[in-house]
Amino acid sequence: MIAVRNFVDGEFADPRSGARLDDIEPAVGAAYATVPDSGADDVAVAVAAAQRAFPAWARTPVEERARLLIDVAGRIEARLDEFARAESVDTGKPLSLARSLDIPRAVANLRFFATAALHFHSEAHATDHGVLNYTLRRPRGVAAVISPWNLPLYLLTWKIAPALATGNTVVAKPSELTPMTAQMLAEACRAAGLPPGVLNIVHGRGAGAGAALVSHPDVPTISFTGGTVTGAAIAATAAPMFKKIALELGGKNPNIVFADAGLDDAVATSLRAAFTNQGEICLSGSRLFVEEPIYESFVARMVDGARRLRLGDPLDSATEQGALVSAAHRDKVLGCIDQARRDGGRILCGGGPPAKPVSDRCRGGYFVEPTVIAGLDPKSRIMREEVFGPVVTVTPFRGEDEAVALANGTDYGLAACVWTENLARAHRVAERVASGTIWINCWMVRDLRVPFGGMKKSGVGREGGDEALRFFTEPKNVCIRIPEEPGA
Ligand code: NAD
Repeated sequence: MIAVRNFVDGEFADPRSGARLDDIEPAVGAAYATVPDSGADDVAVAVAAAQRAFPAWARTPVEERARLLIDVAGRIEARLDEFARAESVDTGKPLSLARSLDIPRAVANLRFFATAALHFHSEAHATDHGVLNYTLRRPRGVAAVISPWNLPLYLLTWKIAPALATGNTVVAKPSELTPMTAQMLAEACRAAGLPPGVLNIVHGRGAGAGAALVSHPDVPTISFTGGTVTGAAIAATAAPMFKKIALELGGKNPNIVFADAGLDDAVATSLRAAFTNQGEICLSGSRLFVEEPIYESFVARMVDGARRLRLGDPLDSATEQGALVSAAHRDKVLGCIDQARRDGGRILCGGGPPAKPVSDRCRGGYFVEPTVIAGLDPKSRIMREEVFGPVVTVTPFRGEDEAVALANGTDYGLAACVWTENLARAHRVAERVASGTIWINCWMVRDLRVPFGGMKKSGVGREGGDEALRFFTEPKNVCIRIPEEPGA
């Protein structure tokens, strides 16, 4: 059985207590590795290492920091198949998705922020009457990076790369459910010659290692992606300590299809938006709203498409839908579907685990069929709360005003899709829907330069491009008075 280890001060280490958790392969339902159940003492050692490494790393020329990160990216790319397989086994996602999305995006994150830091600049303000202001942006010290299980290496590198590129050192805590590619990232960093202590990875549960990292007095910066409830707990700890926090939280994203939309594209992309990664994406289009004239035919096409998605062993190249990440999460998703039934929802397809095992190897796996639910009141629980599984609700609407009201009818505001061929309507609806990202006639098209984040309970702050570089740096304004030339 593989033993994942912490990575502290450039060395792999076991937790001081010796405590370990099982790392389960979700498609099989059995442990295949163990992961450290680290405690506050392990976190303290990692933070101390990161603090020691900070002054030299902050002074390291940005070209050298960029070179090292690009080197790490190259090492991951060279082992793409190994990384993709590890991500697929750890999460239950199709290997094909890990190969085409997760790992290439992790490589892109490292390259993007390594080179972005080379172009980062700050402001100067020439004030009237011989005064000049310029803004220094300096790294803030040790950054805590806490990431979830749905896109493990993708989201971990999305935070680590800008933190390191701008000269911070990092203590990262990946999800305890999916630690494997973080361990492989540590190996790549070591092989690339990243100085000891610059990146430290401490594995363990949120309530243990995670909470200890958040409350550590020598960690002034916290970048977190995960659930809204966890985000609130982190904010409650961090606020009175005046830490700088970025919180990327849950979503309950509307996908609005007007009758004038290009329907082939809208159907195909709505299916992807609902079911990619088994719906375990914060950006999933989990609430589908369809304008009345096309509602029946659109929903019929969605149901047909959902039924055709190939549920199977994630390691099989034909598989389009893998397993959910854990038994507990599968049970939560099934609970949400049952609640929807009790609330009067009609299950148009799916609604539970497959009738027979997807394969012999995967008999004990955590599979749920792609599920489409109609007939729910927009105020019902499943239409307001994040399911984070292969479940989409469908609801008809009449006209723009109702579409916008339905879209805005949750506490979340992460992402929204609008399908229409009417340009003016697209702009109007984009303006009115409360959401950090609006996709018009597309979904999950990501340019790493754009601001990314959520409104309302979907988060605080923005990541991406300059926003991330600004987040991980402290602006300091220097104001200089330039005296008049004597005698002038
Ligand atoms: P989670 O909040 O349970 O855990 C996320 C991370 O936080 C894990 O590493 C966990 O160990 C840690 N953690 C848990 N409790 C903690 C605490 N008290 N202090 C410090 N750390 C703690 O989330 P999850 O179940 O791993 O991920 C799913 C959630 O993540 C969904 O809600 C999803 O929408 C959200 N998510 C958001 C984005 C985004 O960009 N907005 C992206 C992906 C996932």
